[in-house]
This record gives sequence, structure tokens and C-alpha cells, in this order.
Amino acid sequence: MAVLKVTKLGNPALRKPSEAIPKESIASPELQRLIRDMIETMREEDGVGIAAPQVGVSKQLAVIEVGENRRYPGKPAIPLTVLLNPRIVAASKKLVADWEGCLSVNDMRGQVPRAEWVDVEAFNPKGERLKFHAEGFFARVIQHECDHLAGKVFLDRMANLATLSHLHEFVRFWQQ
Ligand code: ZN
Repeated sequence: MAVLKVTKLGNPALRKPSEAIPKESIASPELQRLIRDMIETMREEDGVGIAAPQVGVSKQLAVIEVGENRRYPGKPAIPLTVLLNPRIVAASKKLVADWEGCLSVNDMRGQVPRAEWVDVEAFNPKGERLKFHAEGFFARVIQHECDHLAGKVFLDRMANLATLSHLHEFVRFWQQ
């Protein structure tokens, strides 16, 4: 396993829509290794999720997990979730604003309006079809990661940039 280099804002890989993963290639050793390396990278970087474009790979693949996270203290736990070719097939009309950061946008936080729940379809790493409902912070992370697969970052989703904060000032003025 390996910790991969994380692409940062300005890298064109973050702005390119990712390619769908053919179902028959899900079991390939290369893809299974990429999944393991992305999980290791997410954990090493204290991320709550990471999408393949963030390691320079144009594939519709994201991993999500929230344990005891130093970057997001107090957030509810989310078990390890690996999503291949994820689609948000339904979402609440109601949007909720909350703070987000990104491993590709160092040391910044901003308030982003997101649907409060989503219904998701995807494949898991065994090639099985998943369909599930997610709410709250989990729904937010899924939307953030699906945006990466479409070449978007959270800054694109902010209503305006007035809350965009360096982490130091976020901790000083905004974190409860
Ligand atoms: Zn991100």
C-alpha cells in the first residue's frame, strides 16, 4: 500500500470530469490497489473523503470514512464507504449551509449549501450495486466527493466567498 500525492487547487486533474469505471475492470488488481491506496491516503491526510482526481486519476471513484477525525472534531462517525460510479439519484430541495474543507484546498474552510439528504446509486469494490439514503454530514461528504468526480470543488458551490476562511481564523472566530 502507498500514500499517494494529493493534487492541489490549480492542478487541471481537479477540473476534469472523471471517466466511468467499466464494471468488468472493478475486480482488476490495479483498481483494487488504487482503492486501498486511496483509503490509506485519506487516513494519512486526516480526510473524511477523497476522490480519484485528488490523486491524479480520472476515474469515478471516491472513498469516505469518518472516525475520530482531527480535522473535523465532533462530526458523527461514518463507516468506510467506497463508491464507484456514484450517482445522486434524488436529493432534498432544502439546502443546509455548513463548513467544508478539502485536502486539495489547504487550510481553508468555507460555508457550502448542500442538500440535507441524498439517495445514491453506485457500485461497491466487489462490483455489487449499492443503493442507499444518506443524511446530514454523510450526505454532505457524498455531494462534495461527487462534485470532485464532475471536476468541481467546494469553492464553486459557495453562495459567495464571504465565509471563506483560513483554518487559523476559522478556529478563532467560527468553530464552536
Ligand atoms: Zn475535496
